[in-house]
Amino acid sequence: MTDYFEVLERDGAARIAQLRLSDPVTTPALVDDVVEDAGSLWPEERELPAGDESALTVLPHRGFPAGTADEVKESFAVDYPDVEYPSAVAVTPDTAENFGADAYVLSDVQGSIGHGSAFRDAIIETRDSIPADSGLYLSGVATPVNVATLVYAGVDLVDEHRAVVKGLQGKYLTNEGEHFLEDLSELPCACPACRQPVGEFDREDCADHNANALRAELGRVRERIRAGRLRDYIEGQARHEQWCTAAFREFDQQWSYLEQRTPVLRRSELVSATEDTIRRVEIQRFAERVTNRYQNRFSNPLVLVPCSATKPYSESQSHGQFHEAIGFRGHVVSMTSPIGVVPQELECTYPAQHYDSVVTGRWSEDEKRFVANVLQAYLERNEYPSVIAHIPDEGYRDICERVEDALDLEFTYTVEEHPTDEESLVNLAGALEGELKYSKREREKNTVRAIADYQFGDGAGDALFEDITMESRYPKLRVHDPEGEQLAAMVPQYGVLSMTLAGGRQWVESDAPTKRIEIDAFVPHGDVLAPGVVDADDEIRVGDEVVVEGPKAFGVGRAEMSGPEMAESTRGVAASVRHVDEQ
Ligand SMILES: [Zn+2]
Repeated sequence: MTDYFEVLERDGAARIAQLRLSDPVTTPALVDDVVEDAGSLWPEERELPAGDESALTVLPHRGFPAGTADEVKESFAVDYPDVEYPSAVAVTPDTAENFGADAYVLSDVQGSIGHGSAFRDAIIETRDSIPADSGLYLSGVATPVNVATLVYAGVDLVDEHRAVVKGLQGKYLTNEGEHFLEDLSELPCACPACRQPVGEFDREDCADHNANALRAELGRVRERIRAGRLRDYIEGQARHEQWCTAAFREFDQQWSYLEQRTPVLRRSELVSATEDTIRRVEIQRFAERVTNRYQNRFSNPLVLVPCSATKPYSESQSHGQFHEAIGFRGHVVSMTSPIGVVPQELECTYPAQHYDSVVTGRWSEDEKRFVANVLQAYLERNEYPSVIAHIPDEGYRDICERVEDALDLEFTYTVEEHPTDEESLVNLAGALEGELKYSKREREKNTVRAIADYQFGDGAGDALFEDITMESRYPKLRVHDPEGEQLAAMVPQYGVLSMTLAGGRQWVESDAPTKRIEIDAFVPHGDVLAPGVVDADDEIRVGDEVVVEGPKAFGVGRAEMSGPEMAESTRGVAASVRHVDEQ
Protein backbone atom coordinates (compact mmCIF):
# COMPACT_ATOMS: atom_id res chain seq x y z
CA MET A 1 0.00 0.00 0.00
CA THR A 2 1.59 3.26 -1.05
CA ASP A 3 0.23 6.01 1.13
CA TYR A 4 2.70 8.71 0.31
CA PHE A 5 3.11 8.65 -3.46
CA GLU A 6 0.38 9.60 -5.90
CA VAL A 7 0.67 9.89 -9.68
CA LEU A 8 -1.19 12.94 -10.99
CA GLU A 9 -0.30 13.16 -14.67
CA ARG A 10 1.20 10.79 -17.21
CA ASP A 11 3.13 11.34 -20.41
CA GLY A 12 4.28 7.94 -21.64
CA ALA A 13 6.37 6.36 -18.89
CA ALA A 14 7.10 9.81 -17.40
CA ARG A 15 4.81 11.08 -14.66
CA ILE A 16 4.10 14.06 -12.49
CA ALA A 17 3.49 12.74 -8.98
CA GLN A 18 3.39 13.96 -5.44
CA LEU A 19 5.59 12.59 -2.71
CA ARG A 20 3.30 13.39 0.20
CA LEU A 21 5.73 14.32 2.93
CA SER A 22 4.82 16.98 5.52
CA ASP A 23 6.26 19.36 2.91
CA PRO A 24 5.04 17.66 -0.30
CA VAL A 25 7.51 17.25 -3.19
CA THR A 26 6.30 17.33 -6.80
CA THR A 27 8.26 14.75 -8.78
CA PRO A 28 10.28 14.14 -10.91
CA ALA A 29 12.58 15.98 -8.54
CA LEU A 30 15.83 16.08 -6.61
CA VAL A 31 15.30 14.44 -3.24
CA ASP A 32 18.68 15.01 -1.51
CA ASP A 33 17.05 17.13 1.20
CA VAL A 34 14.22 14.76 2.01
CA VAL A 35 15.83 11.31 1.94
CA GLU A 36 17.07 9.67 5.15
CA ASP A 37 19.13 6.57 4.49
CA ALA A 38 18.97 4.11 7.42
CA GLY A 39 22.14 2.48 6.05
CA SER A 40 23.50 -0.83 4.93
CA LEU A 41 23.04 -4.04 6.87
CA TRP A 42 26.41 -5.41 5.78
CA PRO A 43 28.60 -3.88 8.48
CA GLU A 44 26.09 -4.31 11.32
CA GLU A 45 22.55 -5.17 12.24
CA ARG A 46 20.46 -2.03 12.40
CA GLU A 47 17.41 -1.00 14.34
CA LEU A 48 14.35 -0.13 12.30
CA PRO A 49 14.46 3.69 12.17
CA ALA A 50 11.70 5.61 13.96
CA GLY A 51 10.92 7.60 10.78
CA ASP A 52 8.36 10.35 10.33
CA GLU A 53 6.47 12.23 7.63
CA SER A 54 9.13 14.88 7.13
CA ALA A 55 11.37 12.49 5.17
CA LEU A 56 11.44 9.52 2.82
CA THR A 57 13.26 6.90 4.88
CA VAL A 58 15.28 4.31 3.01
CA LEU A 59 14.89 1.19 5.16
CA PRO A 60 18.05 -0.73 6.17
CA HIS A 61 19.25 -2.58 3.08
CA ARG A 62 21.89 -4.88 1.66
CA GLY A 63 23.36 -4.09 -1.74
CA PHE A 64 25.00 -6.70 -3.94
CA PRO A 65 27.79 -6.10 -6.40
CA ALA A 66 26.88 -6.81 -10.02
CA GLY A 67 27.20 -10.50 -10.85
CA THR A 68 26.42 -11.81 -7.35
CA ALA A 69 25.01 -15.34 -7.55
CA ASP A 70 21.26 -15.72 -7.05
CA GLU A 71 21.68 -18.10 -4.08
CA VAL A 72 23.79 -15.53 -2.27
CA LYS A 73 21.23 -12.81 -2.97
CA GLU A 74 18.44 -15.04 -1.76
CA SER A 75 20.09 -16.06 1.49
CA PHE A 76 20.95 -12.46 2.34
CA ALA A 77 17.67 -10.96 1.11
CA VAL A 78 16.23 -8.34 3.42
CA ASP A 79 12.77 -8.85 4.82
CA TYR A 80 11.35 -5.35 4.54
CA PRO A 81 8.88 -4.56 7.32
CA ASP A 82 5.66 -2.59 6.86
CA VAL A 83 6.11 0.85 8.36
CA GLU A 84 3.75 3.72 9.09
CA TYR A 85 5.88 6.49 7.56
CA PRO A 86 7.05 7.32 4.01
CA SER A 87 9.56 4.63 3.11
CA ALA A 88 11.74 3.42 0.28
CA VAL A 89 13.45 0.07 -0.15
CA ALA A 90 16.56 -0.81 -2.15
CA VAL A 91 16.11 -3.32 -4.97
CA THR A 92 17.92 -4.59 -8.04
CA PRO A 93 16.05 -5.45 -11.25
CA ASP A 94 16.07 -9.14 -10.17
CA THR A 95 15.00 -8.59 -6.56
CA ALA A 96 12.33 -5.95 -7.27
CA GLU A 97 8.81 -6.86 -6.18
CA ASN A 98 5.95 -5.17 -4.35
CA PHE A 99 7.28 -4.54 -0.83
CA GLY A 100 4.52 -2.07 0.00
CA ALA A 101 6.97 0.84 -0.05
CA ASP A 102 6.30 4.32 -1.43
CA ALA A 103 9.51 4.34 -3.46
CA TYR A 104 12.15 1.90 -4.75
CA VAL A 105 15.84 2.71 -4.89
CA LEU A 106 17.43 0.94 -7.82
CA SER A 107 20.90 -0.07 -6.63
CA ASP A 108 23.88 -0.96 -8.82
CA VAL A 109 22.50 1.21 -11.59
CA GLN A 110 25.75 3.05 -12.34
CA GLY A 111 26.80 0.15 -14.57
CA SER A 112 23.86 0.58 -16.92
CA ILE A 113 24.12 4.37 -17.23
CA GLY A 114 25.94 4.94 -20.48
CA HIS A 115 24.58 1.80 -22.11
CA GLY A 116 21.24 2.19 -23.85
CA SER A 117 20.05 -1.41 -23.83
CA ALA A 118 21.32 -2.24 -20.31
CA PHE A 119 19.60 0.88 -19.00
CA ARG A 120 16.38 -0.02 -20.78
CA ASP A 121 16.42 -3.56 -19.40
CA ALA A 122 17.12 -2.41 -15.83
CA ILE A 123 14.29 0.14 -15.88
CA ILE A 124 11.68 -2.01 -17.59
CA GLU A 125 12.41 -5.06 -15.45
CA THR A 126 12.14 -3.00 -12.28
CA ARG A 127 9.08 -1.00 -13.32
CA ASP A 128 7.26 -4.17 -14.32
CA SER A 129 7.89 -5.65 -10.85
CA ILE A 130 6.89 -2.72 -8.63
CA PRO A 131 3.45 -1.10 -8.33
CA ALA A 132 2.66 1.69 -10.79
CA ASP A 133 1.87 4.09 -7.96
CA SER A 134 5.31 3.99 -6.35
CA GLY A 135 8.33 6.17 -7.06
CA LEU A 136 11.48 4.90 -8.78
CA TYR A 137 14.67 6.44 -7.37
CA LEU A 138 18.01 6.40 -9.20
CA SER A 139 20.76 7.72 -6.96
CA GLY A 140 24.09 9.15 -8.05
CA VAL A 141 23.49 9.21 -11.80
CA ALA A 142 21.56 12.33 -12.83
CA THR A 143 23.19 15.15 -14.78
CA PRO A 144 21.56 18.09 -16.59
CA VAL A 145 22.13 16.36 -19.93
CA ASN A 146 20.75 12.92 -19.06
CA VAL A 147 17.95 13.64 -16.59
CA ALA A 148 15.26 14.17 -19.26
CA THR A 149 16.04 10.68 -20.62
CA LEU A 150 15.94 9.17 -17.11
CA VAL A 151 12.50 10.68 -16.52
CA TYR A 152 11.27 9.71 -20.00
CA ALA A 153 12.17 6.11 -19.13
CA GLY A 154 10.09 6.20 -15.94
CA VAL A 155 12.41 7.50 -13.18
CA ASP A 156 10.73 9.74 -10.57
CA LEU A 157 13.40 10.59 -8.03
CA VAL A 158 17.04 11.59 -8.54
CA ASP A 159 19.71 13.45 -6.56
CA GLU A 160 22.49 15.99 -6.98
CA HIS A 161 25.28 13.62 -6.08
CA ARG A 162 26.89 13.09 -9.48
CA ALA A 163 26.48 16.72 -10.59
CA VAL A 164 28.14 17.96 -7.40
CA VAL A 165 31.04 15.49 -7.63
CA LYS A 166 31.67 16.56 -11.23
CA GLY A 167 31.63 20.21 -10.14
CA LEU A 168 34.25 19.53 -7.49
CA GLN A 169 36.34 17.86 -10.23
CA GLY A 170 36.13 21.09 -12.23
CA LYS A 171 33.55 19.93 -14.76
CA TYR A 172 30.93 22.51 -15.65
CA LEU A 173 27.63 20.87 -16.70
CA THR A 174 24.87 22.18 -18.93
CA ASN A 175 21.92 20.38 -20.51
CA GLU A 176 24.05 20.06 -23.64
CA GLY A 177 27.06 18.41 -22.06
CA GLU A 178 30.12 19.18 -19.95
CA HIS A 179 33.05 21.59 -20.17
CA PHE A 180 36.32 21.74 -18.26
CA LEU A 181 36.10 24.80 -16.07
CA GLU A 182 39.50 26.04 -17.20
CA ASP A 183 38.36 26.00 -20.86
CA LEU A 184 35.51 28.47 -20.28
CA SER A 185 36.07 32.08 -21.30
CA GLU A 186 32.75 33.02 -19.75
CA LEU A 187 30.00 31.36 -17.75
CA PRO A 188 27.13 30.45 -20.10
CA CYS A 189 24.50 30.58 -17.34
CA ALA A 190 22.71 33.13 -15.18
CA CYS A 191 22.09 31.05 -12.04
CA PRO A 192 23.12 32.61 -8.68
CA ALA A 193 26.41 30.67 -8.61
CA CYS A 194 27.37 31.99 -12.04
CA ARG A 195 26.78 35.67 -11.29
CA GLN A 196 30.46 36.47 -10.90
CA PRO A 197 33.52 36.84 -13.11
CA VAL A 198 34.81 33.61 -14.55
CA GLY A 199 38.21 34.24 -12.93
CA GLU A 200 36.73 34.09 -9.43
CA PHE A 201 34.53 31.06 -10.12
CA ASP A 202 35.94 28.06 -8.23
CA ARG A 203 35.08 24.37 -7.99
CA GLU A 204 32.68 24.90 -5.08
CA ASP A 205 30.80 27.41 -7.25
CA CYS A 206 30.91 24.92 -10.10
CA ALA A 207 29.29 22.26 -7.89
CA ASP A 208 26.56 24.77 -6.96
CA HIS A 209 26.02 25.68 -10.60
CA ASN A 210 25.80 22.01 -11.62
CA ALA A 211 23.09 21.39 -9.03
CA ASN A 212 21.24 24.51 -10.20
CA ALA A 213 21.48 23.39 -13.83
CA LEU A 214 20.09 19.98 -12.89
CA ARG A 215 17.24 21.59 -10.95
CA ALA A 216 16.41 23.90 -13.90
CA GLU A 217 16.40 20.98 -16.34
CA LEU A 218 13.99 19.08 -14.06
CA GLY A 219 11.69 22.12 -14.11
CA ARG A 220 11.67 22.08 -17.93
CA VAL A 221 11.01 18.35 -17.92
CA ARG A 222 8.07 18.68 -15.50
CA GLU A 223 6.53 21.39 -17.67
CA ARG A 224 6.96 19.17 -20.72
CA ILE A 225 5.17 16.30 -18.97
CA ARG A 226 2.30 18.57 -17.95
CA ALA A 227 1.98 19.69 -21.57
CA GLY A 228 2.14 16.07 -22.80
CA ARG A 229 5.22 16.94 -24.85
CA LEU A 230 8.22 15.27 -23.25
CA ARG A 231 8.79 13.09 -26.30
CA ASP A 232 9.19 16.09 -28.65
CA TYR A 233 11.80 17.44 -26.24
CA ILE A 234 13.64 14.12 -25.84
CA GLU A 235 14.15 13.67 -29.56
CA GLY A 236 16.27 16.82 -29.56
CA GLN A 237 17.70 16.75 -26.02
CA ALA A 238 18.90 13.15 -26.06
CA ARG A 239 21.11 13.97 -29.04
CA HIS A 240 23.59 15.74 -26.78
CA GLU A 241 24.71 12.45 -25.30
CA GLN A 242 25.04 9.37 -27.45
CA TRP A 243 23.90 6.82 -24.92
CA CYS A 244 20.73 8.84 -24.25
CA THR A 245 19.81 8.70 -27.95
CA ALA A 246 20.57 4.98 -27.91
CA ALA A 247 18.46 4.60 -24.76
CA PHE A 248 15.33 6.28 -26.06
CA ARG A 249 15.59 4.33 -29.31
CA GLU A 250 15.90 1.16 -27.26
CA PHE A 251 12.67 2.12 -25.53
CA ASP A 252 11.02 2.61 -28.93
CA GLN A 253 11.82 -1.06 -29.59
CA GLN A 254 9.94 -2.02 -26.40
CA TRP A 255 6.54 -1.27 -27.85
CA SER A 256 4.42 -2.63 -25.00
CA TYR A 257 6.17 -0.72 -22.19
CA LEU A 258 5.61 2.67 -23.80
CA GLU A 259 2.35 1.82 -25.54
CA GLN A 260 0.66 0.85 -22.30
CA ARG A 261 1.66 4.20 -20.83
CA THR A 262 0.83 6.48 -23.78
CA PRO A 263 -2.60 8.17 -23.89
CA VAL A 264 -4.81 7.47 -26.92
CA LEU A 265 -5.56 11.17 -27.24
CA ARG A 266 -4.14 14.45 -25.98
CA ARG A 267 -4.82 18.14 -26.12
CA SER A 268 -1.34 19.05 -27.20
CA GLU A 269 0.11 19.13 -30.66
CA LEU A 270 2.63 16.51 -31.65
CA VAL A 271 5.68 18.04 -33.24
CA SER A 272 7.50 16.01 -35.80
CA ALA A 273 11.00 17.36 -35.86
CA THR A 274 13.24 14.36 -36.37
CA GLU A 275 13.26 11.00 -38.09
CA ASP A 276 12.65 9.36 -34.73
CA THR A 277 9.10 10.73 -34.74
CA ILE A 278 7.80 7.93 -36.97
CA ARG A 279 8.77 5.43 -34.26
CA ARG A 280 6.82 7.08 -31.46
CA VAL A 281 3.79 5.27 -30.07
CA GLU A 282 1.13 7.71 -31.27
CA ILE A 283 2.29 7.43 -34.89
CA GLN A 284 2.77 3.66 -34.87
CA ARG A 285 -0.58 3.17 -33.15
CA PHE A 286 -2.43 5.27 -35.75
CA ALA A 287 -0.80 3.35 -38.60
CA GLU A 288 -1.53 0.04 -36.91
CA ARG A 289 -5.20 0.88 -36.40
CA VAL A 290 -5.72 2.31 -39.89
CA THR A 291 -4.27 -0.84 -41.43
CA ASN A 292 -5.83 -3.41 -39.05
CA ARG A 293 -9.11 -1.92 -37.86
CA TYR A 294 -10.29 0.64 -40.40
CA GLN A 295 -12.56 -0.62 -43.15
CA ASN A 296 -13.55 1.34 -46.26
CA ARG A 297 -17.33 1.39 -46.76
CA PHE A 298 -17.48 3.43 -49.97
CA SER A 299 -17.77 1.77 -53.36
CA ASN A 300 -16.18 4.71 -55.20
CA PRO A 301 -12.61 4.94 -56.51
CA LEU A 302 -9.82 5.81 -54.09
CA VAL A 303 -8.36 9.31 -54.52
CA LEU A 304 -4.94 9.75 -52.93
CA VAL A 305 -4.11 13.38 -52.16
CA PRO A 306 -1.26 15.14 -50.36
CA CYS A 307 -1.86 16.35 -46.79
CA SER A 308 -2.20 20.05 -46.01
CA ALA A 309 -0.66 22.16 -43.27
CA THR A 310 -4.16 23.24 -42.20
CA LYS A 311 -5.93 20.66 -40.04
CA PRO A 312 -8.38 19.10 -40.35
CA TYR A 313 -7.39 18.78 -44.00
CA SER A 314 -10.90 19.41 -45.33
CA GLU A 315 -10.69 22.97 -44.03
CA SER A 316 -7.62 23.79 -46.12
CA GLN A 317 -7.80 25.67 -49.38
CA SER A 318 -6.16 22.89 -51.40
CA HIS A 319 -8.52 20.22 -50.08
CA GLY A 320 -11.45 22.55 -50.78
CA GLN A 321 -10.32 22.60 -54.42
CA PHE A 322 -9.88 18.81 -54.50
CA HIS A 323 -13.35 18.43 -53.03
CA GLU A 324 -14.89 20.58 -55.75
CA ALA A 325 -13.29 18.46 -58.45
CA ILE A 326 -14.18 15.15 -56.72
CA GLY A 327 -17.75 16.09 -55.79
CA PHE A 328 -18.49 13.05 -53.56
CA ARG A 329 -17.47 10.64 -56.32
CA GLY A 330 -14.23 9.41 -54.77
CA HIS A 331 -13.03 8.27 -51.36
CA VAL A 332 -10.31 10.70 -50.27
CA VAL A 333 -7.25 9.40 -48.42
CA SER A 334 -4.44 11.82 -47.56
CA MET A 335 -0.81 10.77 -47.67
CA THR A 336 1.41 12.34 -45.07
CA SER A 337 4.63 12.04 -43.14
CA PRO A 338 4.84 11.14 -40.35
CA ILE A 339 1.28 9.78 -40.02
CA GLY A 340 1.11 7.55 -43.11
CA VAL A 341 -2.35 7.56 -44.68
CA VAL A 342 -5.47 9.25 -43.33
CA PRO A 343 -8.89 8.19 -44.70
CA GLN A 344 -11.27 11.18 -44.88
CA GLU A 345 -13.43 9.81 -42.03
CA LEU A 346 -10.46 9.92 -39.64
CA GLU A 347 -9.13 13.39 -40.46
CA CYS A 348 -10.13 14.67 -37.00
CA THR A 349 -8.99 11.59 -35.10
CA TYR A 350 -5.95 11.97 -32.86
CA PRO A 351 -3.19 12.53 -33.93
CA ALA A 352 -4.31 13.23 -37.55
CA GLN A 353 -5.24 16.83 -36.81
CA HIS A 354 -2.76 17.25 -33.94
CA TYR A 355 0.62 17.08 -35.60
CA ASP A 356 2.87 19.65 -37.06
CA SER A 357 5.79 18.62 -39.19
CA VAL A 358 8.77 20.66 -40.15
CA VAL A 359 8.23 20.66 -43.89
CA THR A 360 11.50 20.43 -45.73
CA GLY A 361 9.90 19.52 -49.07
CA ARG A 362 12.06 16.42 -49.05
CA TRP A 363 11.18 12.97 -47.89
CA SER A 364 13.84 10.89 -46.21
CA GLU A 365 14.20 7.24 -47.18
CA ASP A 366 12.82 6.27 -43.74
CA GLU A 367 9.71 8.37 -44.28
CA LYS A 368 9.13 7.00 -47.77
CA ARG A 369 9.51 3.44 -46.57
CA PHE A 370 7.13 4.05 -43.67
CA VAL A 371 4.38 5.71 -45.73
CA ALA A 372 4.76 3.12 -48.52
CA ASN A 373 4.40 0.27 -46.00
CA VAL A 374 1.28 1.84 -44.50
CA LEU A 375 -0.29 2.49 -47.93
CA GLN A 376 0.50 -1.04 -49.05
CA ALA A 377 -1.05 -2.59 -45.91
CA TYR A 378 -4.03 -0.28 -46.32
CA LEU A 379 -4.62 -1.40 -49.91
CA GLU A 380 -4.16 -5.06 -49.01
CA ARG A 381 -7.08 -4.73 -46.61
CA ASN A 382 -9.28 -2.36 -48.61
CA GLU A 383 -10.24 -3.01 -52.22
CA TYR A 384 -11.17 -0.24 -54.63
CA PRO A 385 -12.48 -0.32 -58.21
CA SER A 386 -9.58 2.00 -59.13
CA VAL A 387 -6.92 4.22 -57.58
CA ILE A 388 -6.41 7.85 -58.62
CA ALA A 389 -3.19 9.40 -57.35
CA HIS A 390 -3.64 13.17 -57.28
CA ILE A 391 -0.24 13.83 -55.79
CA PRO A 392 2.82 15.95 -56.54
CA ASP A 393 6.05 14.44 -57.78
CA GLU A 394 8.43 14.86 -54.91
CA GLY A 395 8.36 11.85 -52.57
CA TYR A 396 4.68 11.01 -53.10
CA ARG A 397 5.15 9.63 -56.60
CA ASP A 398 8.03 7.43 -55.52
CA ILE A 399 5.89 5.97 -52.71
CA CYS A 400 2.93 5.33 -55.02
CA GLU A 401 5.13 3.58 -57.58
CA ARG A 402 6.62 1.30 -54.93
CA VAL A 403 3.12 0.29 -53.84
CA GLU A 404 1.94 -0.22 -57.44
CA ASP A 405 4.90 -2.56 -57.95
CA ALA A 406 4.41 -4.44 -54.71
CA LEU A 407 0.68 -5.04 -55.25
CA ASP A 408 0.70 -5.22 -59.04
CA LEU A 409 -1.77 -2.35 -59.31
CA GLU A 410 -1.95 0.54 -61.74
CA PHE A 411 -2.75 4.00 -60.42
CA THR A 412 -4.07 6.86 -62.55
CA TYR A 413 -1.92 9.97 -62.07
CA THR A 414 -3.73 13.27 -62.54
CA VAL A 415 -1.28 16.00 -61.52
CA GLU A 416 0.51 18.02 -64.21
CA GLU A 417 2.63 20.59 -62.37
CA HIS A 418 0.97 21.09 -59.04
CA PRO A 419 -2.13 19.41 -57.47
CA THR A 420 -4.08 22.67 -57.33
CA ASP A 421 -3.35 23.99 -60.82
CA GLU A 422 -6.30 24.10 -63.17
CA GLU A 423 -5.16 21.39 -65.55
CA SER A 424 -4.57 18.96 -62.71
CA LEU A 425 -8.00 19.63 -61.19
CA VAL A 426 -9.62 19.13 -64.61
CA ASN A 427 -7.77 15.80 -64.92
CA LEU A 428 -8.99 14.78 -61.48
CA ALA A 429 -12.62 15.59 -62.28
CA GLY A 430 -12.23 13.79 -65.62
CA ALA A 431 -10.85 10.65 -64.00
CA LEU A 432 -14.04 10.41 -61.94
CA GLU A 433 -16.40 10.96 -64.83
CA GLY A 434 -19.39 8.61 -64.75
CA GLU A 435 -18.87 7.67 -61.07
CA LEU A 436 -21.93 7.81 -58.83
CA LYS A 437 -22.08 10.32 -55.99
CA TYR A 438 -22.53 9.26 -52.40
CA SER A 439 -24.76 11.37 -50.18
CA LYS A 440 -23.67 13.54 -47.31
CA ARG A 441 -25.68 11.35 -44.91
CA GLU A 442 -23.90 8.27 -46.23
CA ARG A 443 -20.60 9.98 -45.63
CA GLU A 444 -21.58 10.97 -42.08
CA LYS A 445 -22.74 7.47 -41.17
CA ASN A 446 -19.56 6.00 -42.57
CA THR A 447 -17.57 8.52 -40.57
CA VAL A 448 -19.13 7.35 -37.32
CA ARG A 449 -18.59 3.69 -38.23
CA ALA A 450 -14.98 4.32 -39.24
CA ILE A 451 -14.26 6.09 -35.97
CA ALA A 452 -15.84 3.17 -34.08
CA ASP A 453 -13.59 0.71 -35.93
CA TYR A 454 -10.55 2.84 -35.14
CA GLN A 455 -11.45 3.50 -31.53
CA PHE A 456 -13.00 0.21 -30.39
CA GLY A 457 -11.63 -2.44 -32.74
CA ASP A 458 -12.04 -4.32 -36.00
CA GLY A 459 -15.73 -4.73 -36.86
CA ALA A 460 -17.00 -2.34 -34.17
CA GLY A 461 -18.52 0.12 -36.66
CA ASP A 462 -20.87 -2.49 -38.10
CA ALA A 463 -21.55 -4.24 -34.77
CA LEU A 464 -22.54 -0.98 -33.07
CA PHE A 465 -23.87 1.34 -35.73
CA GLU A 466 -25.45 -0.79 -38.45
CA ASP A 467 -28.83 0.89 -38.19
CA ILE A 468 -28.56 4.55 -37.21
CA THR A 469 -29.86 8.01 -37.93
CA MET A 470 -27.73 11.11 -37.78
CA GLU A 471 -28.34 14.56 -36.39
CA SER A 472 -26.52 17.88 -36.54
CA ARG A 473 -23.61 18.84 -38.73
CA TYR A 474 -20.18 17.36 -39.27
CA PRO A 475 -17.96 17.35 -37.28
CA LYS A 476 -20.37 17.65 -34.34
CA LEU A 477 -22.21 14.47 -35.26
CA ARG A 478 -24.83 12.89 -33.00
CA VAL A 479 -25.78 9.25 -33.51
CA HIS A 480 -29.29 7.96 -32.79
CA ASP A 481 -30.96 4.57 -33.06
CA PRO A 482 -34.02 4.25 -35.35
CA GLU A 483 -36.32 5.02 -32.38
CA GLY A 484 -34.55 8.32 -31.82
CA GLU A 485 -32.56 7.38 -28.71
CA GLN A 486 -29.09 8.99 -28.74
CA LEU A 487 -26.26 6.46 -28.66
CA ALA A 488 -23.13 8.53 -29.09
CA ALA A 489 -21.67 11.86 -30.12
CA MET A 490 -18.54 12.66 -32.06
CA VAL A 491 -16.02 14.82 -30.17
CA PRO A 492 -14.63 17.03 -32.96
CA GLN A 493 -11.49 17.98 -31.00
CA TYR A 494 -10.18 14.40 -30.92
CA GLY A 495 -12.28 12.75 -33.62
CA VAL A 496 -13.53 10.09 -31.22
CA LEU A 497 -16.96 8.94 -30.04
CA SER A 498 -18.32 9.46 -26.57
CA MET A 499 -21.14 7.13 -25.62
CA THR A 500 -24.45 7.75 -23.88
CA LEU A 501 -25.80 5.20 -21.38
CA ALA A 502 -27.99 3.71 -24.12
CA GLY A 503 -24.94 3.54 -26.37
CA GLY A 504 -22.94 1.94 -23.56
CA ARG A 505 -25.58 -0.74 -23.02
CA GLN A 506 -25.71 -1.46 -26.74
CA TRP A 507 -21.92 -1.63 -26.74
CA VAL A 508 -21.68 -4.30 -24.00
CA GLU A 509 -24.39 -6.35 -25.69
CA SER A 510 -22.77 -6.13 -29.13
CA ASP A 511 -19.92 -8.17 -30.60
CA ALA A 512 -17.67 -5.09 -30.58
CA PRO A 513 -14.66 -5.31 -28.24
CA THR A 514 -15.58 -3.51 -24.99
CA LYS A 515 -13.29 -1.89 -22.44
CA ARG A 516 -14.70 -2.53 -18.99
CA ILE A 517 -13.88 -1.41 -15.50
CA GLU A 518 -15.44 -3.50 -12.75
CA ILE A 519 -16.09 -1.50 -9.59
CA ASP A 520 -17.21 -2.24 -6.02
CA ALA A 521 -20.80 -1.82 -4.84
CA PHE A 522 -21.13 1.96 -5.08
CA VAL A 523 -22.53 4.54 -7.48
CA PRO A 524 -19.73 6.76 -8.81
CA HIS A 525 -20.41 10.42 -9.36
CA GLY A 526 -17.67 12.18 -11.28
CA ASP A 527 -14.55 10.15 -10.66
CA VAL A 528 -13.86 6.51 -9.92
CA LEU A 529 -10.81 6.26 -7.66
CA ALA A 530 -8.32 3.42 -8.07
CA PRO A 531 -9.18 1.71 -4.73
CA GLY A 532 -12.80 1.32 -5.97
CA VAL A 533 -11.67 -0.67 -9.01
CA VAL A 534 -12.05 -4.43 -8.66
CA ASP A 535 -10.71 -5.28 -12.10
CA ALA A 536 -10.05 -3.58 -15.43
CA ASP A 537 -9.30 -4.78 -18.94
CA ASP A 538 -5.57 -4.88 -19.67
CA GLU A 539 -6.18 -3.14 -22.99
CA ILE A 540 -7.50 0.10 -21.45
CA ARG A 541 -5.32 3.15 -22.12
CA VAL A 542 -5.51 6.73 -20.82
CA GLY A 543 -8.22 8.52 -22.81
CA ASP A 544 -10.11 5.36 -23.78
CA GLU A 545 -13.90 5.29 -23.76
CA VAL A 546 -14.89 2.79 -21.03
CA VAL A 547 -17.88 1.09 -19.48
CA VAL A 548 -17.92 1.23 -15.68
CA GLU A 549 -19.91 -1.56 -14.11
CA GLY A 550 -20.58 -2.80 -10.57
CA PRO A 551 -23.35 -4.37 -8.46
CA LYS A 552 -24.94 -0.95 -8.00
CA ALA A 553 -24.06 1.03 -11.10
CA PHE A 554 -23.68 1.06 -14.85
CA GLY A 555 -21.89 4.00 -16.41
CA VAL A 556 -19.82 5.26 -19.31
CA GLY A 557 -16.79 7.49 -19.14
CA ARG A 558 -13.15 7.95 -19.99
CA ALA A 559 -10.09 6.19 -18.57
CA GLU A 560 -7.54 8.30 -16.71
CA MET A 561 -5.12 5.40 -16.13
CA SER A 562 -4.23 2.30 -18.11
CA GLY A 563 -6.10 -0.90 -17.16
CA PRO A 564 -3.06 -2.54 -15.51
CA GLU A 565 -2.35 0.64 -13.54
CA MET A 566 -5.96 0.83 -12.28
CA ALA A 567 -5.87 -2.75 -11.12
CA GLU A 568 -2.65 -2.32 -9.10
CA SER A 569 -2.97 1.26 -7.83
CA THR A 570 -4.20 2.28 -4.42
CA ARG A 571 -4.38 6.01 -5.10
CA GLY A 572 -5.51 8.38 -7.83
CA VAL A 573 -8.34 8.82 -10.32
CA ALA A 574 -8.87 5.70 -12.45
CA ALA A 575 -11.65 7.02 -14.69
CA SER A 576 -14.05 9.92 -15.00
CA VAL A 577 -17.68 8.90 -15.35
CA ARG A 578 -19.84 10.90 -17.77
CA HIS A 579 -23.22 9.22 -17.23
CA VAL A 580 -24.26 6.66 -14.61
CA ASP A 581 -27.40 4.66 -13.80
CA GLU A 582 -28.08 3.23 -10.37
CA GLN A 583 -29.07 -0.40 -10.61
ZN1 LIG B 1 24.97 28.55 -13.37
